[in-house]
Amino acid sequence: MSRIVVTGGAGFLGSHVCEALLARGEEVVAIDNLITGALTNIEPLIGQPGFVFVPNDVTRFIDVAGPVDAIMHFASPASPRDYLTLPIQTLKVGSLGTHHCLGLARVKQAKFFLASTSEVYGDPQVHPQPESYWGHVNPVGPRGVYDEAKRFAEALTMAYHHSHGIDVRIVRIFNTYGPRMRPHDGRVVSNLLIQALTGQPLTIYGSGAQTRSFTFVDDEIRGILGLFDSGYVGPMNIGSDVEYSLNELAGLVLEVTNSSSEIVHEELPIDDPTRRRPDLALARAVLGFEPLVSLREGLTRTAAYFAEQIGV
Ligand code: UDP
Repeated sequence: MSRIVVTGGAGFLGSHVCEALLARGEEVVAIDNLITGALTNIEPLIGQPGFVFVPNDVTRFIDVAGPVDAIMHFASPASPRDYLTLPIQTLKVGSLGTHHCLGLARVKQAKFFLASTSEVYGDPQVHPQPESYWGHVNPVGPRGVYDEAKRFAEALTMAYHHSHGIDVRIVRIFNTYGPRMRPHDGRVVSNLLIQALTGQPLTIYGSGAQTRSFTFVDDEIRGILGLFDSGYVGPMNIGSDVEYSLNELAGLVLEVTNSSSEIVHEELPIDDPTRRRPDLALARAVLGFEPLVSLREGLTRTAAYFAEQIGV
């Protein structure tokens, strides 16, 4: 049994990571400053043996009493709406927060796991995106605060690995959705599902021809833990490689919610990536990873969660 610190432990992905670790018998110390996380996400975990929640901000110095075997760094705003509202906090958690977590890993001689993102590829000019692609990012555009923070976090992680011999893993996460997303976090899956469930028009930004490869949270967490347990440093893409246009996504949302909402088109945000799909060859070869939950099935499960959350 290991004792694992999960930063962003009350967030969407962080809370699922905590739950999965507890389920396999690990001890978990979840840290979160709750700016985009929520205590409701970890309510079922509070009181479970082996689970501790520590309200804290990893952009300031962090210390965790006692032995620590691993630090999994999931703290960060991750929805474009959030990181546009919180640009400085986003840069700080990816830079200072990652530095503090790596410092803790060094002191505790612990493994360090970085939650990175497909956003390191920016608006990609190579498709699908293998890990060897360096990306196409606008550092001074509105998304730069997230993209560059995660790119810096990857660079710092590798520097600690090479200079201090820290055992590290880097995962690049692709558009993940599912229960515990905030209904109003501004991302496309939550927006469209809430709109469909409440009979409002579905907002598609731009023509809707842009693509994403949507990953159900259970698949993402399985891949993350597979990488964590493996001897492979990364970076490694984990996601689904079934690519959908947003127009196709909207059609599926209407089907699974049985909604007759109309579709309206709004302005395309600046630097919105045109297409995104992971090359999963590495994850398949190293982990035998395969995404299993179809978009239809995942949307159905997420719609049920949102319907309960908003009481429709
Ligand atoms: N989008 C949309 N309608 C919405 C929210 C987002 O059409 O209500 C688009 C957005 O412009 C982007 C895609 O959906 O092309 C995915 O956006 P999201 O914010 O979920 O994440 P991203 O992949 O851009 O980080």
